[in-house]
Parts: sequence; structure tokens; C-alpha cells
Amino acid sequence: MRKPIIAGNWKMNHDIFETETLINTLLPLVAGAEAEVVFCPTYLGLQKAVEMTKDSNVGIGAQNMHFEKNGAFTGEISGEMLTAIGVKYAIIGHSERRQYFNETDEAVNQKAIKALSLEITPIVCCGETLEERESGKAEAKVVGQIEAGLKNIDDITKVVVAYEPIWAIGTGKTASKEEADESCGWVRKTIAKMYGPEAAEKVRIQYGGSVNPGNVKELMAMENIDGALVGGASLKPTFSEIVKF
Ligand code: PEP
Repeated sequence: MRKPIIAGNWKMNHDIFETETLINTLLPLVAGAEAEVVFCPTYLGLQKAVEMTKDSNVGIGAQNMHFEKNGAFTGEISGEMLTAIGVKYAIIGHSERRQYFNETDEAVNQKAIKALSLEITPIVCCGETLEERESGKAEAKVVGQIEAGLKNIDDITKVVVAYEPIWAIGTGKTASKEEADESCGWVRKTIAKMYGPEAAEKVRIQYGGSVNPGNVKELMAMENIDGALVGGASLKPTFSEIVKF
């Protein structure tokens, strides 16, 4: 049985004070959830968030991390720096990072390997553009991202994959539950080819793209969907309804 995992990606939203307020609001609401719960505030909010959630059922994740330990990488934060403050998850290769910061599958792979070596759970994102979906290239895109982004992983069962069609992120347009499940199935099949069916059965695959309290239940009922990576709706108190689908 795969334990559901629901993560909120707060993106570049909320200063440290707003972060504190949101955590205070959400903590009692998500308490007792059966799913694993993750909040991913900005880097600036991470330390406070770890402190505030230390006796709770919530884990804290970064939205990115560098694969080097330290050095001349202006503006970057390393995995070691994240573990030093108790961060347990890192979103890797979100489509916004791929699109605006030129993040490649190779970098995603290096980051995922590094995260695992530090016992940080990588939430590795993949997903196609609208053009790729409409031209029948969605499967090839997702399979390619998984093959390149998840190669040479020691223990694939510790990786969480987030399938997020780019056309559904922040648009209010969710993939149908069948489309989402089929695509998460492409991810699982690819992992099975790379690491064997037994390991692939253990990997948790999230769907992401305009998940909200109204659609989470039907998505979570699908065979290949084990969780959600949630953007906009994770900034609201009703995120707890997603967490407790
Ligand atoms: C995301 O940021 O990963 C995401 C899925 O955003 P939204 O839920 O707002 O579509």
C-alpha cells in the first residue's frame, strides 16, 4: 500500500510573517490527516516553518536545491543547508524552474541523487505542454523526462514523482481523472522498465495541476495517483480539505 502524500507548493508567495500566519491557520486543520502532509514555503520561510511544525504531522520541503555542497553558485541553496535546518523534502524540476530558469533533465537527475544521499525526499516533477499533448507527444515527453531525470538512482522507492501537465498548472483547467491516471501510469511503467515492477509499485506518484477541494477525491481514487502537488489551493485554509480528501 502506498501512503498518500499531499504537498503544498507555495511558490514565491508569502513573506515570513504571512508564512507564519498560514502555518498557524493550517496546522490544526490538517492535524490527524491520514495522508503525509508537506508544506513548501519559500527558502526564507523554511527555518521558521520547520520550527513551527516540529511536533506536528507536517513535513517541510524546499521548492528547489542545488546539487553541489557549496561554492560559487550565487543565489543558490544546497541540500546540506536544507538538512542543517531539518528540511525533509525538495521539489525538483518543477515546470516553472524548467521554463524560467532553464533547468534540464540532467540537473534534475543530479539534484534527485543528491537529495536522496542526504535523506531528503525528492518530489521530482514532469509533465507536457499543451502543444505536446495536442500533437500526441505527451507520453514521449513524460517518458523522456523520467528516463533522464531518474537514472542511476540507488533506491527509487524513496522518490516521489509529481506528474503535472503544464497546461493545467495555475490555469483552473484540471486534467480529467482518466487523463491524469493514464499519464501517471506512463511514469510507473517507465520506472518499472528502469528498476523493475516491484520497485515501481512502491513509488508514489502525485498529480498536480489545479487540484482543489472539489476534484481531489476523484483524482485520488485512481489507480496510479497517490497524492497531489498543489499550488494555488495550498495557500488557503481549505487546503486542509484536499489533505483530508
Ligand atoms: C504547482 O505549482 O505545482 C501546481 C500544480 O499549481 P496549481 O495547483 O496552482 O495548478
